[in-house]
Parts: sequence; structure tokens; C-alpha cells
Amino acid sequence: MANDASTVFDVVILGGGSGGYAAALRAAQLGLQVALIEKGELGGTCLHRGCIPTKALLHAAEVADETREAAQFGVKATFEGIDLPGVHKYKDDVIGGLYKGLQGLVASRKITYVTGEGRLSSPTSVDVNGQRYEGRHIVLATGSVPKSLPGLTIDGNRVISSDHALKLDYIPKSAVILGGGVIGVEFASVWKSFGVDVTIVEALPHLVPLEDEGSSKLLERAFRKRGIKFELKARFSGVEYTESGVRVSTENGKQIDADVLLVAIGRGPVSQGLGYEESGIAMDRGYVLVDEYMRTNVPTVSAVGDLVPTLQLAHVGFAEGILVAERLAGLQVVPIDYDGVPRVTYCNPEVASVGISEAKAKEIYGAEKVKVAKFNLAGNGKSKILKTAGEIKLVQVEDGAVVGVHMVGARMGEQVGEAQLIYNWEALPAEVAQLIHAHPTQSEALGEAHLALAGKPLHNHD
Ligand SMILES: Cc1cc2nc3c(=O)[nH]c(=O)nc-3n(C[C@H](O)[C@H](O)[C@H](O)COP(=O)(O)OP(=O)(O)OC[C@H]3O[C@@H](n4cnc5c(N)ncnc54)[C@H](O)[C@@H]3O)c2cc1C
Repeated sequence: MANDASTVFDVVILGGGSGGYAAALRAAQLGLQVALIEKGELGGTCLHRGCIPTKALLHAAEVADETREAAQFGVKATFEGIDLPGVHKYKDDVIGGLYKGLQGLVASRKITYVTGEGRLSSPTSVDVNGQRYEGRHIVLATGSVPKSLPGLTIDGNRVISSDHALKLDYIPKSAVILGGGVIGVEFASVWKSFGVDVTIVEALPHLVPLEDEGSSKLLERAFRKRGIKFELKARFSGVEYTESGVRVSTENGKQIDADVLLVAIGRGPVSQGLGYEESGIAMDRGYVLVDEYMRTNVPTVSAVGDLVPTLQLAHVGFAEGILVAERLAGLQVVPIDYDGVPRVTYCNPEVASVGISEAKAKEIYGAEKVKVAKFNLAGNGKSKILKTAGEIKLVQVEDGAVVGVHMVGARMGEQVGEAQLIYNWEALPAEVAQLIHAHPTQSEALGEAHLALAGKPLHNHD
């Protein structure tokens, strides 16, 4: 552990997750002297308890499904079951490799890395392990942790959070998942593929409620087909322990018995007791408030990542961290357009989007000005080969640019890169229609949707 408490750093960063370490790496690259303080493991939630482990589990789930369904492709294979220690080893090896790489990167940029729990002691200092780290600027990046509901205790045994679910050393026979957002549906997808009887309980009318309603409905149809059960508009009212597990009740009178209850109702900011309020930082329900340049109301303090009330995504944390580092180094920075941030839910089938939903476009621009085009993946050769169903939906305003791209289907997450360019470069449908997409790829479906929107559909039934 490097520990140089006598220096006044250019930037002291509290929290070494996606937001904090991105700020540290970029600031160091720009020649600033940086201290990065982390109480747990460098890489934070995303690397150790979030994006990476869940995506490894989802890939193992995909392998299980492909093995089960191999005969459909004329391949003889026998699915014998899930070797959970083997799955954990695979997942942990992926994490371990990335963790090592990240540690090497931080060391190579000459960042002073401090292990320990930090506390903001003034607008220009953080105390760790009895030592004070002074900075001309402070970046708060303490992230988030799983939330629960009043009266619902996560015991880590039968009532668990995603942190526990990632480390379970057995496969439950049945599970109730409270919350049909990204984390809930990803675990539902993994567990179903691992043979678990899954029921999602969601208070809102749809799964992945932040997505375009069309995407939610397609996912619901696909989940129904997969045998993943869900109760919508069902508010949780209580859980009791039974002899072998839990009984979950909803306000509309449903009772569901299962081995475990996974609470996936969202994540709350880590800010309590860290000295933020004492330093005069404006907060709202635990979130640190920032402007579009990630500045708090205290001039020397910035904040990034899940700690601020923007999209809770790793790549948002990276972008916010980079923005702060560049601003502090005196570069000209541009505020983030959060609608232009790609969003992917990696369940089977995947849900991916960028821009705004059809409903939001109608709300902003008026229904008569919004045009929608859809391309069903049934008409896409590569999707047919993969035996995936789904759709690409485009939202356009008047005769202008595409303001929303919404995709459901296997591997659609990989298409979001092009979708993001289309949205962020404000491409016109006719311009995208002009681009030639390789055949047979799933990217062709994106091209075809634009052909449809430009008024010259090819493999589309209009
Ligand atoms: C199950 C799950 C799946 C996810 N999947 C995805 C995905 O596929 N794609 C995606 O983009 N996002 C995903 N996310 C979200 C993503 O993980 C977060 O948005 C991201 O990690 C936020 O980064 P952060 O730096 O703000 O916070 P964190 O990653 O939470 O990092 C904060 C760090 O601060 C440290 N810290 C806190 N307090 C202190 C203190 N007082 N002193 C020192 N250190 C402190 C913590 O130990 C932690 O390491 C997922 C999250 C979960 C839970």
C-alpha cells in the first residue's frame, strides 16, 4: 500500500469503483497527482458484485441452454446438469484476471492507492486509517449497495440480495425475485437456465419498466415461453419463513412459496456517515447532487457514479469520472446526454436501447409528430439461424433524426454500438438506410428497420 499523507494531491478520490477508478486513471494520464482510496476491492461493484460476475453467469446459462437444445441444430449433446463450483470458478477466474489487470493499470499510472475506509474531513481532505489526505479537489465515488423495503430484512440466507445470489453455493429449487428491473430479470434468466422455478414479483405494470413498453411486452412474451413466471402490478406485502424456505405475500392476495427470496428492488447510495453533509454538500435522499459537470455545490468537491442520481451503469460511472478528470485538468468538457447512453439488459433474450421511448417522444413532441418503424427478427437470416425471436423498433420525430432505438432478441446488446452512433450523431433514417450491412448479420436488422423508416422496406411486411 502506497501511502503518502504529506503531499497535497491534485485530486483525492474516495471510492475505487467504475466512477472513481476511471477518474483516477484519466486524471493521472493528464499529469495530475492522484490519490485513490478504496475500502474494499479496486473495481467496486461492477467488477466484483455486478456487471462482470452476472454476465459470466449469464454466459454459463447460455451454454446450458445451448447444450439442452443442441438437438435442434443437429448436434448430439447431453445436458447433465450444472456444476456450480465449476461455474463459480469460471466466473471468479474472469473477475480475477480483470482485477489483476486493473491493479496493474492503477500502479502503472503512478496513482497513490490507499486501502481503507475514508471519510471526508473537509472540502479538501479525506481521512483514512488515522491519516489525512489533502487534495486541491475531491471526487466522491462511494457508489451504491442493494436496497430493501421497510420491514424486509435481508438475512443473507433465505432472503438475499444480488451480492449473496452471486455467491450461493447451491442451486435453489425455487426462487421469488422481488423486482422486475435489470438485476431481477437477469437473475431470473440465469436461474431458469440452471433449472430453478422462478417467479418475479413486480409492483409496476411491466418487467424492465424503464424500457419502451414494446420491449417490455416482448420480454414478457419470451419469459412466458421460457416458463419464467411473473406477477405484475403486484406489491410486496410480506415474507415469512416456512419450514424449507419462504412464503412471499403480495397486496393483491397472492402467496408464493420458494426456497429463497432475492430482493432486487434497486440500489441506494453509500453516503451515510462519510462526512458529506458536514462539509456542506447538498444531498437528496442520500444521493449527492451535482450539476451537468458533476460539480457539487461545494467548489472543491465533485461526485460521480451510483452516488449521484443519474443512470446507475458502469459506463456512466466511467464517463462521469473521465469528465471530472478532464475538467480538473483544464480541458474543455461536454455534459453527458444521458438519453444517449446505451442500456443493455443481458437476460435471454437481451433487451437493448438508446435514446427515448415511443411514449416519451409522444409526450415531448406530440403523438402526431412521432413515427415508428419495426423490424421483426423473423425476417433476419442470422437471427433465424440462432433461432431467436424479437424485434427492432425505431422512434423518429417528424422528418428528423432517430430519437430512440429499442431492440429485443439474442445478442441484441452487441447491436447497441451502432444504435448509439445513430442516436448520438442524430442520423436521419435515409442516411442509415444508405449504409450497407453485412449479410447475414443481426446488424442487418438495424439496417432494415431504417430502410423501413426511410420508406423503402426490403424484407419487411408493411
Ligand atoms: C448485480 C448487478 C449487475 C450489474 N450489471 C451491470 C451491467 O451489466 N452493466 C452496467 O453498466 N452496470 C451494471 N451494474 C451497475 C454497476 O455495477 C454500477 O453502476 C457501477 O459499479 C457504479 O460504479 P461506482 O463507482 O459509482 O460505484 P461502485 O462500483 O459501487 O464503487 C464504489 C466503491 O467505493 C468504495 N467505498 C465506499 N465507501 C467507501 C469509503 N468510505 N472509503 C473507501 N471506499 C469506499 C466501495 O468499496 C466501492 O468499491 C450492475 C450492478 C449490479 C449490482
